[in-house]
Amino acid sequence: PVIFHVEGISKVYRMGEVEVHALRSLNLDLYESEFVVLLGPSGSGKSTLLNILGGLDIPSSGHFYFRNQDLTNANDAVLTRFRRNSVGFIFQFYNLIPSLTARENVALVTEIARHPMKPEQALELVGLRDRLDHFPAQLSGGEQQRVAIARAIAKRPEVLLCDEPTGALDFQTGKIVLEALAQVNQELGTTTAVITHNAGIAGMADRVITMRSGEITNIQYNEHKLAPS
Ligand code: ADP
Ligand code: ADP
Repeated sequence: PVIFHVEGISKVYRMGEVEVHALRSLNLDLYESEFVVLLGPSGSGKSTLLNILGGLDIPSSGHFYFRNQDLTNANDAVLTRFRRNSVGFIFQFYNLIPSLTARENVALVTEIARHPMKPEQALELVGLRDRLDHFPAQLSGGEQQRVAIARAIAKRPEVLLCDEPTGALDFQTGKIVLEALAQVNQELGTTTAVITHNAGIAGMADRVITMRSGEITNIQYNEHKLAPS
């Protein structure tokens, strides 16, 4: 089943006299439980697309549907509810609260969610069971990002949108973080879209979507997805 249906979406940023066409009549379906990687040069529109899918930004024209609900012109209340209940966001920077342990950082989110998992369970899913009571400063960058992933999945979102989650990490650490995302995708079936420059990890994805100048220029299907190891 299709979870996101994107129909002819364009996004134009106007800065004074200058118009930037971030997305150009883009069409895309994302399927339930799939793991998609978005590649493409800087400025090709990847973040803009992800932000629209997550209800953080609004397209200039076109439509996008989440589970057959047209969210294109949804009001703030609807979009806020959608973001809160259905979407987990992961960014380059972890935004953990330094004075709280890993467990407490995750617990902050589970306190306000409808059907949360236990913080311990979320942290175990990303391989951090032995780091529950560590503070962010006691964790490596890769571990901090995995806490951020645990925080994002603990509310059991339907989709996980990840904007360069490995942008601040070296290749090997980035690979571990992406493997944690693949593991979560397998265990929970959360539809996952990941922007990355790390083409080496594209083999983990069900589909690799390449963008350029606001358009999708290639979609590669991985029939034999590499098992995360
Ligand atoms: P990517 O994620 O592939 O690097 P973005 O979606 O961030 O690409 O950006 C696509 C284009 O839109 C770029 O030219 C970028 O400069 C422009 N852009 C993105 N956000 C804004 C904004 N808030 N205001 C003006 N231009 C923007
Ligand atoms: P950039 O790559 O330009 O530094 P980010 O990837 O950090 O931007 O963020 C992408 C978009 O998501 C931005 O429009 C930003 O306002 C928004 N954003 C960043 N962090 C959060 C957050 N913690 N919660 C909600 N929105 C966020």
